[in-house]
Amino acid sequence: MLATALAGSLPLDESRAKDEDGLVAHDPAAELAAKRASLEEQLEVLRRPPEPGSIGFGKRVGEGTSQAVDRITAVSAEEKLQAMLTDVKRAQEKLAEGTYGRCDACGVEIAPERLEARPWATRCVDHA
Ligand SMILES: [Zn+2]
Repeated sequence: MLATALAGSLPLDESRAKDEDGLVAHDPAAELAAKRASLEEQLEVLRRPPEPGSIGFGKRVGEGTSQAVDRITAVSAEEKLQAMLTDVKRAQEKLAEGTYGRCDACGVEIAPERLEARPWATRCVDHA
């Protein structure tokens, strides 16, 4: 159920953001704030304990395995979201510092296409 909710919300958020921005207006501060809010919300959902009654319901063969797989998927999703959230926070710091758009490792300007696709990119392609 969690995985379904997550899979449903992710592409929806992305397409909605694109519709509103039209890919023309590029406002990193707003995009980062929106991305951060979205990530924090998804992380909270992932970390929420399972609803009472959902565990052990409908016992059938192989359920233990599928529950374990679900757990692994959730953990890996959480790690990805957390890593992205760290990048978003760092990018917000860089905006405040005035180093936004420059690689944290070598200081070179990050390609605009890269920033367009990932406004939270804090490193150039070579140092990603
Ligand atoms: Zn670099």
